[in-house]
Amino acid sequence: MERLLIDNVRPFDSRRGMLGAPSRIVIDDGRIAEVTSEPRKVDTARRIDGGGRVALPGLIDAHVHVTATMHDLMGQALKPPSLVVAESSRILRDMLQRGFTTVRDAAGADFGLQEAVAKGLFEGPRLYIAGFPISQTGGHADMRPKGARLREMFCTCAGLGLIGAIADGVGEVRRAVREQVRNGANQIKIMAGGGIASPSDPLEGTQFSLDELKAACEEAEAANLYAMAHAYSPRAVTRAVQAGVRSIEHGNLIDAATARVMKTEGAFLVPTLSTYAALADEGERLGWSAQMLGKLASVSACGIESVRLAVAEGVPVVFGTDLLGHMHARQSGEFDLRRPAMSPVQILRSATFTAAQLLREEGRLGELVAGAWADVLLVDGDPTRELSMLARPDEGIRLIVQAGRVVKNALA
Ligand SMILES: [Zn+2]
Repeated sequence: MERLLIDNVRPFDSRRGMLGAPSRIVIDDGRIAEVTSEPRKVDTARRIDGGGRVALPGLIDAHVHVTATMHDLMGQALKPPSLVVAESSRILRDMLQRGFTTVRDAAGADFGLQEAVAKGLFEGPRLYIAGFPISQTGGHADMRPKGARLREMFCTCAGLGLIGAIADGVGEVRRAVREQVRNGANQIKIMAGGGIASPSDPLEGTQFSLDELKAACEEAEAANLYAMAHAYSPRAVTRAVQAGVRSIEHGNLIDAATARVMKTEGAFLVPTLSTYAALADEGERLGWSAQMLGKLASVSACGIESVRLAVAEGVPVVFGTDLLGHMHARQSGEFDLRRPAMSPVQILRSATFTAAQLLREEGRLGELVAGAWADVLLVDGDPTRELSMLARPDEGIRLIVQAGRVVKNALA
């Protein structure tokens, strides 16, 4: 791969949360070789003049479902996997064009899709996969309509849907986690509380016994991985983090005491405000039941408050979106939705450095430092003051480089 020099930029230091001096970024073999303010000559490199623009590390969305090609998860489960993959390739390509060079898939994507992106067969963000989400019977990833039996649909031989591997009891939970590890998961997704899109679980309820939660975390840690847990209520969040869960997904209903427990346990919060905004606009038209819309209303209202509480308690907050189907187009809207609770610098760090910390990839992702993957964005304006260029990336992001490869160049 040719050497690339991105000259005349102001790099964002995502570790410290500030802009650096005018610099040049030297890229070699997909990695950043050097970020330097010394103007010495760089040999045999293709040169891009950044025109004094701000350079950001490639963005990380830590809660996506790249295989959620439609909002109806039951319908999705009945699609042939080949079609799901073909449709996912569009979702992946569009995410990359919004500046997301890495995403953490919160269940659905498998190692085949990850490999397709790594080999360059599909353009898309670098994928961190969870495989199947692990759910108890009647839990958030058990999508069977009430009364339906269909257990065989939900074995882990099923397709690429978001429907879970159902596991009850410590033994089954261990096996389900080990199955995901065997299939190359980078993190383990468990359902630790009620959800909106599932028919039979109350939102404030807890899911899995403490022993089951601990077993899931123990098996993840045994494979040098970690568990991420879907949870809304204080009770569900507290149990999950005390059992060893590393990141709480959504967390809309947390209170200050719960945020304090998260801080003490070293857990991360990954809010996903976009999906509630999207479903509030579209849920009724999409035929969601009154029961689901009721659940939605109760978490939507608390979303931004939970972010505020987490920030106030010093819980590391990470960028996530959780969009389904055609609503993926709203991914960049998350930058606007978080503004009432976070500063532009806090939001930038949540989508770069803090996300890399969550993924245990500091120094490799989310930072413009020597040795990191050469994922670089050049943007118009000053993102430490306002984020419209990321919220509307078509115009605002002028250059996207992923692992040293230019995937968008709209520099004038
Ligand atoms: Zn999700």
